[in-house]
Amino acid sequence: MAEPRVATQRWKVGSATITSVVEDQIDLPPGLLFPEADEETVRRHPWLVPDWAGADGTISMRVQAFVVETDGVTVLVDPCVGNGKVRWLPVWNDLDLPFLERLADAGYVPADVELVVHTHVHADHVGWDTRRDGDAWVPTFTGARHLYTEAELEFARTSGMPGEDVYGDSIAPIVDAGLADIVAPDADLGHGLRLESTPGHTPGHTSLWIESGGERALITGDFMHHPFQFAEPQVAEIADSDADVARSTRTRMLRRMAESGALVLGTHFPNRPAGRVVANGDRWRFVPE
Ligand SMILES: [Zn+2]
Ligand SMILES: [Zn+2]
Repeated sequence: MAEPRVATQRWKVGSATITSVVEDQIDLPPGLLFPEADEETVRRHPWLVPDWAGADGTISMRVQAFVVETDGVTVLVDPCVGNGKVRWLPVWNDLDLPFLERLADAGYVPADVELVVHTHVHADHVGWDTRRDGDAWVPTFTGARHLYTEAELEFARTSGMPGEDVYGDSIAPIVDAGLADIVAPDADLGHGLRLESTPGHTPGHTSLWIESGGERALITGDFMHHPFQFAEPQVAEIADSDADVARSTRTRMLRRMAESGALVLGTHFPNRPAGRVVANGDRWRFVPE
């Protein structure tokens, strides 16, 4: 498989820039993420090698945030797991990773962030919103409005894995600081930014469209987890809260992505997370940029 890349990757869409800031990337057997698939299913699609899968059928998954700079605003999308959080998943528990240093390498400090968009509120999408200060969790991006859909806040309050409190350590401090805004799942955010409702992985899941100078990009969030799902869109991801709704969202969005010609940025796609979606018979394929 390709060596994991943590150096800054940046794309242009019209006059907007989109930058990947990597928290971590791991190799794993596909069955851990997609219980209906295995190494053999992955090997059926050789175009996945080497950027997204190994020749042996293992896959990689990246946790990354995207910084969007457009029309005078700086937006952070899905700020990863965070450091020092108690998490049920061992690979996310009590992390000590240089995410903020990588953000700085990409040219940003937390005070630059004006808007934090969450495609959904799973633990790996809200973590850096807070950092530990003594015994308390305090906001990291103190000058930013943090956007949530009502359905996601409700989901965060009422679900979660044993022993962890994502709402308590990563969302409540934002609400308490008056930095949270509730938005509709299809909200127009101005500046050429628009949410689209993409439910199924979680009830209030959204994706972010970016439009600038006649060009378009889409940040997926978790309606897709890996380019493998372009080839096998019916395969559910282990955390999909409603696999049937997730499947119909994926099919609808695959057509949209291919027809629009948009630059697609996969939130968990490893190594080369941005590209175009092209039809491939009755399936799809991902062409990196
Ligand atoms: Zn998720
Ligand atoms: Zn995720």
